[in-house]
Amino acid sequence: MWEHPAVSDDLDALVGALSDLPVASFIEVLQRTFDVRRGDIELAYFERKYALVVCSLLLCNDGIAQTDEVQIEFVARLTEAAQFDELSQDGGCATCRQEAISTNKIATCAVCGGSLSLT
Ligand SMILES: [Zn+2]
Repeated sequence: MWEHPAVSDDLDALVGALSDLPVASFIEVLQRTFDVRRGDIELAYFERKYALVVCSLLLCNDGIAQTDEVQIEFVARLTEAAQFDELSQDGGCATCRQEAISTNKIATCAVCGGSLSLT
């Protein structure tokens, strides 16, 4: 597919900039962009939104991922500055029952907006 050179250069620069961000900043940029672009996927009778997930597949001894048991964790929204450098806190949302992951122990569920207490 042909791309205008300036657009391609801009995207490469954007990818480079995003790749250099600390995890918490990278997530914040994506989540804020998701909010702005929510209209892209809105439907009349559904609340639809973009969400960031981390999916984990167990690797076999040969390094091949097992696809029969995939763990999906929604990256939580932060309500304050990141506590940890990694997505080291996880747990379930008491409201919507989805699994969540975050840099913080206290965060907001990316799916339903409920409060999360992660460990
Ligand atoms: Zn929730």
